[in-house]
Amino acid sequence: MARVPVDEILIAGRWRRGGGAPIETVNPADGTPITTVHAASPADVDEAARAAAEAAAAPAWRDLLPHRRARVLYRIGDLIEERADELAALQTADTGKTLTETRALAASAAGTFRYTAAALETAEDSLTPARGPYVTMSVYEPIGVVGAINPWNSPIASDAQKAAPALAGGNAVLLKPAEWTPLVSLAFGRLVHRVLAEEGLPTALLSVLPGRGGVVGDAIVTHPLVRRIGFTGGTATGRAIARAAAGRLVPVSLELGGKSPTIVREDADLEQALAGVMFGIFSSSGQSCVAGSRLFVHRSRYDSFLGELVARVRGLRVGSGTDPDTQVAPLVHHRHRDAVAGYVDLARAEGGRVLCGGAAPHGEAYAAGAYYLPTVIDGLPNSARACQEEIFGPVLVALPYDDEDDLVRQAEDSVYGLACGIWTRDARAAWRLARRIDAGTVWINTYKQFSISTPFGGMKDSGLGTEKGRDLIRSYQRQKSLYWGTDTTPLPWAH
Ligand code: NAP
Repeated sequence: MARVPVDEILIAGRWRRGGGAPIETVNPADGTPITTVHAASPADVDEAARAAAEAAAAPAWRDLLPHRRARVLYRIGDLIEERADELAALQTADTGKTLTETRALAASAAGTFRYTAAALETAEDSLTPARGPYVTMSVYEPIGVVGAINPWNSPIASDAQKAAPALAGGNAVLLKPAEWTPLVSLAFGRLVHRVLAEEGLPTALLSVLPGRGGVVGDAIVTHPLVRRIGFTGGTATGRAIARAAAGRLVPVSLELGGKSPTIVREDADLEQALAGVMFGIFSSSGQSCVAGSRLFVHRSRYDSFLGELVARVRGLRVGSGTDPDTQVAPLVHHRHRDAVAGYVDLARAEGGRVLCGGAAPHGEAYAAGAYYLPTVIDGLPNSARACQEEIFGPVLVALPYDDEDDLVRQAEDSVYGLACGIWTRDARAAWRLARRIDAGTVWINTYKQFSISTPFGGMKDSGLGTEKGRDLIRSYQRQKSLYWGTDTTPLPWAH
């Protein structure tokens, strides 16, 4: 059973009820309310930003040596790990995801803090080649207050991916979780707050400010003290945030949507491809930015592959995230389930054949939840909206291709460029395809594997900038160049 946070949010280092509207959080497995959390108000955001600016400038934080700051991050990672079961249970209640997945997300968050701590301890400033009588250095400094805005699909992992490098970089963070899923971010805030307090550091270094994007998110993005924005979410929102940031000349990183092609070549290993395609789209109930939601199969194997795929998809176990047998859990919210269903109706209207799924499951156990059956659709042209737009649910559209040029043309006919999956036994073909397709991440004979040590980002409308990787802290810092004169004689110009 998840321990439900009380109705308090973390503003400027203190826990109190938010000044904004009440948000009722609902368990999408059965539609029951979990709790009510009052959102932050714009005045709360202002208070948090001012306190964050002070905290970031406080010598106790700003002058903390990297190995000491790393210790703080290690401690946060350890606490997340100690509380992983509790965090996972809370996230499952709030998002509907399976416990297996939410445990993995909590473990990933702990790993992110540890990796970031190690990167911080070993990061080096550089001595650059001098071109005169001076020594030149390039050093990195904190930016100040960072806004971190996240979607609802993997809260604790995305919280860690922004908060860990931002704190490591010496900044303070204003974290806004999605309105539908504030609970695990608040629980994460408790852990960070505790470590900061125990270490005698300013607790205003992290505020957790739930609420509507157009209110709380906007107040963060437009606040004059916020000097860097990290955003994960939909492309339309990302664009609006980028526009606001451009007006203020504030750097922004955007991790956005996708409609990723997953490719089954004629020489693919059948079992591996079937398992990979199903995992790629139906795990997380398709609510994954990198979901392999457009399947391309070589025409010579199209019918047989699809027949076998559909038979297996029909056998996927749909159920509550707390049931250890569940493979496809409910969607995050009833409203989102209805939006997904709307896309399937649209695909039907556009002439698509729904080969399986295409409805909410029947039965008492599903009646009150936000469930939707895993769905496979074919018979649509790649130009159909269901093939072009991100559905963000358990819906796969399948298309045949004739040869590699036809495949690349279709796969590339998308505004997105987040990920791509290639199933083949031909290493040369995999290499060619991987280099031809615009995608920030390409998986070859695997899918949806993630490593904090490997940079992640999108191309085209899927994003700007990267997260993760060895340089993850640098994007939350400013670079400064120092020239140290080594000559004792005055500069010649003045003579
Ligand atoms: P969203 O609607 O864009 O919302 C993302 C976050 O932005 C939420 O916290 C939202 O608040 C906030 N927001 C909305 N309008 C805002 C505004 N005007 N100013 C500031 N903040 C604002 O996306 P979503 O539906 O929550 O999440 C699904 C999307 O995220 C999908 O497109 C998915 O592909 C993408 N995603 C991308 C990645 C990646 O790494 N590339 C990872 C995960 C998800 P509310 O809670 O009020 O909406």
